[in-house]
Amino acid sequence: MKVIIVGAGTGGMCLAHGLRRAGIEVAVHERDRTRTTGLHGYRVGISPNGARALKACLDPELFATFVATTAAPYDTLAMLTERYRTLLTMSFDDLPHTGGAPEDREHNVSRMTLRQVLFTGMEDVIAFDRRFAHYEQHPDGRVTAFFDDGSSDTGDLLVGADGAGSRVRRQYLPHATHTETGLVGIGGKTLLTGGTEALLPEPVRNGFGMYFDRRGQFGITHVMRMPWGTSTGVGVTERELVDRWPGLRFDNTTDHVSWAITTSRTLAPADVLEREGADLVALAGELSAGWDARWLELIAASDPGAAVALSIRTADPVPAWTPSTVTMIGDAIHTMTPGRGAGANTALRDARELRDRLVRVRDGELSLLAAVGEYEDLMRRYSSLAVRESLEFMNDDGTARRPLIGPLSVLAQRTGLRVVGRIPAAKRRMARGFQKVRDSELV
Ligand SMILES: Cc1cc2nc3c(=O)[nH]c(=O)nc-3n(C[C@H](O)[C@H](O)[C@H](O)COP(=O)(O)OP(=O)(O)OC[C@H]3O[C@@H](n4cnc5c(N)ncnc54)[C@H](O)[C@@H]3O)c2cc1C
Repeated sequence: MKVIIVGAGTGGMCLAHGLRRAGIEVAVHERDRTRTTGLHGYRVGISPNGARALKACLDPELFATFVATTAAPYDTLAMLTERYRTLLTMSFDDLPHTGGAPEDREHNVSRMTLRQVLFTGMEDVIAFDRRFAHYEQHPDGRVTAFFDDGSSDTGDLLVGADGAGSRVRRQYLPHATHTETGLVGIGGKTLLTGGTEALLPEPVRNGFGMYFDRRGQFGITHVMRMPWGTSTGVGVTERELVDRWPGLRFDNTTDHVSWAITTSRTLAPADVLEREGADLVALAGELSAGWDARWLELIAASDPGAAVALSIRTADPVPAWTPSTVTMIGDAIHTMTPGRGAGANTALRDARELRDRLVRVRDGELSLLAAVGEYEDLMRRYSSLAVRESLEFMNDDGTARRPLIGPLSVLAQRTGLRVVGRIPAAKRRMARGFQKVRDSELV
């Protein structure tokens, strides 16, 4: 059996590792020209779903390297107003599964570093600079992927792991559409120094901050502190483990604050998605006019080269389809808003679930089509929950900006959060809600 994966992103590479370790032939085709092309975002929170998938698919030493390259865990999640007034704080100890084995924990990861970890040792498996164009399924059950450079590759299963704009999905399930949420995010990165740390509200200097303003916009800060030099408990320091992998010299290991502001397209200029660099950083500042002066300074101090704008989309529900020799994992089939931090984790879970079933094909326990069908049935169940919950958390219907009702809705939101913050049982319930799609093994 040969598996062809289109896209060397989070899900595609996790699957590739899992298959190769299981002795199944795999080839990955990636459109990026090199392993360091692109910014690929800043921080991703790997949940127990994601960590268990990485543990299952990666070689144990590479999994230890993944753990060693993560930033320090958080102690606090705080929700604040745009003027830095605290509405609610939650200890990460209130979240289920924050302790225990690395595969059962939350991890703060620099996206670029995770990408480099996942490329490690896979040089013979990945072909860069290969943009997938279309595929053909043959009567003998094989499938051929064709690329823009005129090359092709034939195997027994084609896996579209090519992200939200998936060409595999467009050909295979053309009716699987996406909807714009009407929201746009601008993100950036500010190096963490004594000076910039003081620009953060005190409760989130070692944690995760969410800021809600009166116009329905919200901001986020994630502090990324790299614990270099700390013992991993396996006899070597993290620094030593990282130094063993030459590919990681391209990593993103400086302590920093990852920030973002999400706003309605109606508040942003029409060309927001075309803006970049200092212009984009300035726009983030303009959109947060009236926010605490320290927030504005934090944004102004950021690296203009690291600023990105993206429109936030969500996959529409798709009825079940008949399994074949083409399937998909990750954003390619279930793009979701970043609202619950579940996109990458669901992609990783897909990789693990598909790998587990392909191992059973290898062992003669399942036919290939039965394996694909079983994976797709399960994936549709947990991913539709994740898509729905992620949308619920990031769905701006404009209420906050309506006359009269707007200020009332903002007041109600703030009062509600303050009340929850004072009732431990309500806080725990909210924490469990956050984790539902991040630790969804039971779905
Ligand atoms: C601002 C933001 C914050 C987020 N935070 C979180 C978080 O905290 N936790 C979380 O779980 N998720 C988060 N997500 C979501 C997460 O980034 C994605 O869900 C995840 O990266 C999807 O993984 P994937 O493997 O499906 O696709 P990707 O990682 O996007 O990989 C797709 C790959 O396919 C390649 N490709 C695309 N087209 C082609 C082609 N035609 N031919 C060949 N290759 C191609 C791309 O270059 C890329 O390498 C966030 C997303 C955003 C936007």
